[in-house]
Amino acid sequence: MQLHITCIPGDGIGPEIVTEAKKVLDKVASVYGHEMIYKDILMGGASIDVHGIPLTDEAIADAKSADAVLMGSIGGDTTTSPWYQLPPEKRPEAGLLKIRKALNLFANLRPAILYEELAEACPLRKDISEAGFDMMIMRELTGGLYFGERRTVEENGIRKAIDTLTYDENEIRRIAIKGFDIAMKRRKKVTSVDKANVLDSSRLWRKVVEEVAKDYPEVTLEHMLVDNCAMQLVKDPAQFDVILTENMFGDILSDEASMVTGSIGMLASASLNDSKFGLYEPSHGSAPDIAGKDIANPIATVLSAAMMLRYSFDLDREADAIEAAVKSVLKKNYRTGDIMSEGCTKVGCKEMGDLLAAEIV
Ligand code: NAD
Repeated sequence: MQLHITCIPGDGIGPEIVTEAKKVLDKVASVYGHEMIYKDILMGGASIDVHGIPLTDEAIADAKSADAVLMGSIGGDTTTSPWYQLPPEKRPEAGLLKIRKALNLFANLRPAILYEELAEACPLRKDISEAGFDMMIMRELTGGLYFGERRTVEENGIRKAIDTLTYDENEIRRIAIKGFDIAMKRRKKVTSVDKANVLDSSRLWRKVVEEVAKDYPEVTLEHMLVDNCAMQLVKDPAQFDVILTENMFGDILSDEASMVTGSIGMLASASLNDSKFGLYEPSHGSAPDIAGKDIANPIATVLSAAMMLRYSFDLDREADAIEAAVKSVLKKNYRTGDIMSEGCTKVGCKEMGDLLAAEIV
């Protein structure tokens, strides 16, 4: 199979970690008989330096013409980099918002997995962390409170701010379908999270999710109130498979779920539109403090590439092989500095990429 992939190395550690992800993808291609066709585009600070803006229309067109986009990370040191002297719409992060909008990426997927070998990094009590967890947070990304009408007014000398939370049934249905599709590739359980005891938007959310569930008889659906979910994530995270939720709840819960894994360099993510197209990137930033030193952990980007194979190309076997390679390298006690612990062998970014690629046979 030919895979057309647009790559955004970006800034900071971005180019280093994308190089290692490509190394692993190339090994997958040679073992499983595929052809990876990459095209690199500039975004963020790298694009500002060349074009004066964080993302050009040509770069967007290149991204659109591919089957999927694999990204490192963008942005620099927000206190010292000259990119942050520019007006907000010309700063690196504006490129990210622009590409998400241009590609209509409405579904954000963030896996939170506790690897047995990294259980020490988990801040939860030992009896909870020992049970392990492997969940996927599916967050609606382009609707709800963050995109509703907002204004600040003054009435009778009192300042008042208004934000609106709106969802229509189509916005809910398309993300619910994504959530159930993903559950079918996993342990077939969806926990839909809302605040239906208070909010109309949540009551509609619940109804539409139930309608969609009828098309997925193999998937178990449960509803959970968001406040309860926040507690359950630290009390019994092993109960979750796919958490399906709206924009603001997902924003908060996905950060909470990430934190309980304890390892920022391990967290992948994907943003999808209503076709198979997606943008895949690590959850962490561009780590300018360690850029160019060959010490960044490339695993989050490599796992993002595995998600790309699974969700944009339906190459489940190949994605499984990458995920198994990560587990195997951790089992052999190789670690980058961020996940280092006593008795393990410390390796750099490039060596970690070599080790991962070598596991794919
Ligand atoms: P960060 O995630 O870049 O770094 C936080 C800490 O984690 C740093 O100490 C860093 O060295 C470490 N770290 C992050 N990734 C690592 C990895 N793969 N291996 C080892 N250590 C790693 O967050 P920040 O410092 O707040 O942000 C830096 C820049 O990244 C900012 O410009 C910010 O806007 C940008 N950013 C971009 C994205 C994105 O591109 N989607 C996301 C978040 C932040």
